Amino acid sequence: MTSQLITHVKIFDATGRAPFPGEVLIEGRRIRRVAEGAGQIAREEAAAVIDGQGMTLMPGMTEGHCHITFTGIASPAELGELPPEEHTLATMHNAKLLFDHGFTSVYCAASAKPRLDVVIRNEINAGRIPGPRIRAASPEITVTAGLGDERRLHLYRESFALIVDGVDEMRRTCRTCIREGVDNLKINISGDEFVSHCKAEMTVMMDDEIRTAVEVAHDFGKQIACHARAAGSVKRAVRHGVDVIYHCDFADEEALDLLESVKDRIFVGPAVGLLHNTLYEAEAFGMTREVCESMGFYRKMEATKATYREMRNRGIRVVPGGDYGFAWTPQGTNARDLEHFVKLFGYSPMEALLSATKIGGELMALAGELGQIREGYLADLLLVRGNPLQDISILQHQDNLAMIMKDGAAYKLDLRPRAGQIAAE
Ligand SMILES: [Zn+2]
Repeated sequence: MTSQLITHVKIFDATGRAPFPGEVLIEGRRIRRVAEGAGQIAREEAAAVIDGQGMTLMPGMTEGHCHITFTGIASPAELGELPPEEHTLATMHNAKLLFDHGFTSVYCAASAKPRLDVVIRNEINAGRIPGPRIRAASPEITVTAGLGDERRLHLYRESFALIVDGVDEMRRTCRTCIREGVDNLKINISGDEFVSHCKAEMTVMMDDEIRTAVEVAHDFGKQIACHARAAGSVKRAVRHGVDVIYHCDFADEEALDLLESVKDRIFVGPAVGLLHNTLYEAEAFGMTREVCESMGFYRKMEATKATYREMRNRGIRVVPGGDYGFAWTPQGTNARDLEHFVKLFGYSPMEALLSATKIGGELMALAGELGQIREGYLADLLLVRGNPLQDISILQHQDNLAMIMKDGAAYKLDLRPRAGQIAAE
């Protein structure tokens, strides 16, 4: 088993403790020892020594609501038009892009075609292509007239969804996705602003359909996530046992109480990057102030901010990331979410980092093994130029990542000093 020693680093261990000078010994895929100070671990113990030059060593980040199959689209139907061959390659490139930006884990929140996430996950796990740890998702499972149903009576159109009505179809579709290899099912319980007949505050998937999907997922030992903007959709999700509840923008007091009552079991994720960029960076795509106003996006931002400030107060586990891969939310810019947590939701930089690391590991169903720098944990690590606690935005630039390591293997290791870099202490 190969062993590596990383010396001369400030360790952000994602336990909540302030970064401290130290050294980390890695053996095979796992962290073998974490030592405070210098010279605590004998150099002879390691086959290789990496001098971290005073940089920050932190756990790799988790993207909590990832669509590696989204290819810079302006509308869901574009994904349906993309042939599977091109789509597979685009997904492969996106997976690498996320890895290049410090995301060593991604929790997929719907794949645009049933097997895209699955085959890319399998290729990465087999070591044939580079990429993060992936929990592969099903497509968005939706109801007729729900978010993702792009058909018309005179016209058949694919999008990113599988359409089911009633418990029989739901059961069959969920079981089919599981047979094809997904780790997570995804159901769309509410609509969204941009769907003309199925708005964000409408709860359109029925109780028996949700109950069936959850039962199938859990029967097979899988997880289930949902799209739930309306207060009613959040309540149905909690009551039927959905594991990961996305958005929750319009959660009312009762919905928040329900979420809090199961906070040790569930995760939520705002996926606020898309809303942020739609409001402030998408004029070139037709999202003018007037359009955003008429579609209710300003109102939604206010609701989202209030909801997630409350989630934070109640200690509900919130994961960053989500809905990157639209034309105005390019893949690879996902770490902007950490800054949004700080600026929009009142998180401290420490809390935002813990969401992306410690809580990310729990979301990946690897609690106690992933997301912290502790003995026995998987060695998914980043070596960062600078201190993200002082400036969380440094994680948005891949040049600031001197090392990206997954399972103890350094995918990137570039310790050359950058122009203008302050010499390490
Ligand atoms: Zn999404």
